[in-house]
Amino acid sequence: MGASDSGGSDGCIVEASAWLCDIPVETVRTDAVQSFVKQETIFVRVRTKGGTEGVGYSYTIGNGGAAVLSLLRTQLLELLVGLDVDRPEHVWSTLFSSTRATTVGVLTSLALAAVDTAVWDARCRRADVPLWKAAGGARDRIRLYDTEGGWLHLGTDELVAHALATKERGFSGVKLKVGKPGAHEDLERLRAVRAAVGPGMDLMVDANQSLTSAEAIRRAALFETVDVMWFEEPLPAEDVSGHERLAASTSVPVAVGESMYAIGQFKEYLHRGAAGIVQVDVARIGGITPWLKVAHLAEAYNVQVAPHFLMELHVSLVCAVPNALYLEHIPQLRAVTSAEIRIEDGHALAPDAAGIGIAWDPDALEAHAVM
Ligand SMILES: [Mg+2]
Repeated sequence: MGASDSGGSDGCIVEASAWLCDIPVETVRTDAVQSFVKQETIFVRVRTKGGTEGVGYSYTIGNGGAAVLSLLRTQLLELLVGLDVDRPEHVWSTLFSSTRATTVGVLTSLALAAVDTAVWDARCRRADVPLWKAAGGARDRIRLYDTEGGWLHLGTDELVAHALATKERGFSGVKLKVGKPGAHEDLERLRAVRAAVGPGMDLMVDANQSLTSAEAIRRAALFETVDVMWFEEPLPAEDVSGHERLAASTSVPVAVGESMYAIGQFKEYLHRGAAGIVQVDVARIGGITPWLKVAHLAEAYNVQVAPHFLMELHVSLVCAVPNALYLEHIPQLRAVTSAEIRIEDGHALAPDAAGIGIAWDPDALEAHAVM
């Protein structure tokens, strides 16, 4: 279901539609609190009066996608008609203003992200520039770390083998999930990987919000002994005070952001010194427009950005801003795209194509569509 109109300038949207694809996971992914069941991928396509198309998307890791699609189809798409893709701030604020009853919230942010990324895709295509240049163009490549070999269900031997293979591939970091029932289990796994890869490889850990503040403080002290680069989502995201206490107690940077849905949440963390690394997720924050604001806010606090997941889109955003640290390597779009991100010497290269830089395969998108 979509909406259409033919008035306005060449950048004005005359047609907008949305649909949902289920994209299977490429790897079994488990952490301390959940499994990644499937990527529910919410797509938005806009077409301008001048004939340019833009495709954007957001996602869930297994449920709620139909609710996001419903918000788009019943409310947001019809507001898009007549708005100008060359004015993403205007489009975003117009839609946001219409969702007062459901903001700030997960479903609205995911819906706005699907729209906003489609708008940026069309805007960049109209200007014939790639997103990473349109949004700032700070660098043309970014270091990668891998997460696909660090899931919690994997045995220590598997973690070690994956980490060594990742090092061999030229990546400079690997992330391991933590949050085993016993702190000693986490530590033994980390020690084995550190012993195998040596001191030059970055090791990140991620507890997926599973710990209490007291337990996180205890484990951070253990993790310091294996030189951990960051401690990700140690506590529930709403426990800002807990993160603040943890950050004050450890030399390991505290990394947060994948479970935050508004700029103000990042401001609170940064203002209180509760975040050492910001992991803003372009879908969960509501799109490229607010993602860039969070990245620039972090820069003002001298904090670096290492976004969560969605490497196929985040590669362009981390290359746009000056304070990017790393890109997370979790391939997820191979089933619905005709080209992968380019990797050289452990770095992801910014895509050259005009738009958001993702080569969708129309037939595959159709084959995976469920709503
Ligand atoms: Mg995480």
